[in-house]
Amino acid sequence: MTKGSCLCGAVRFETEATPIKASICHCGQCRRQSGHLWASAQVPQDALTISGELRWYQASPDAKRGFCPTCGSFLFWQGTGEDMISFALGALDTPTGITLEKHIFTASKGDYYDINDTLPRHD
Ligand SMILES: [Zn+2]
Repeated sequence: MTKGSCLCGAVRFETEATPIKASICHCGQCRRQSGHLWASAQVPQDALTISGELRWYQASPDAKRGFCPTCGSFLFWQGTGEDMISFALGALDTPTGITLEKHIFTASKGDYYDINDTLPRHD
C-alpha cells in the first residue's frame, strides 16, 4: 500500500497498485508550482483513492495539476484523456519502496542547478 497526504493533511491518497515511472520533472511548470523540481510516480486512476477537497488547475490543454486548496501542496498531475495519474513522491508516507528511475524535461531545466546523479535524462 502506498499512502500520502498534503502538508496540512486535508487531502489524503492511497493505492494498492505498484507505482511506475518514478521521475524528477524539470519543466518550467513543475518548477514554478513546486518551487524547484517535482518528483512523481504514476498509477492507474482507477487504482488511486483520493479523500478530501482537491482543486485542479488546468495548466495547459495537455494536463491538469491537483493541489490542496488549504495548504497548497502540489499533489497530482494528469494528462488530458489519460487513465494514469501521477502523484508527488514528496507527499508519501515513508518508507515508500520507490526508487527514482529518470529525469524528464531536462531541456527546460533551470539554470541555477546541475544534475549530478547518473539517472537517465530525457529532454
Ligand atoms: Zn493541505
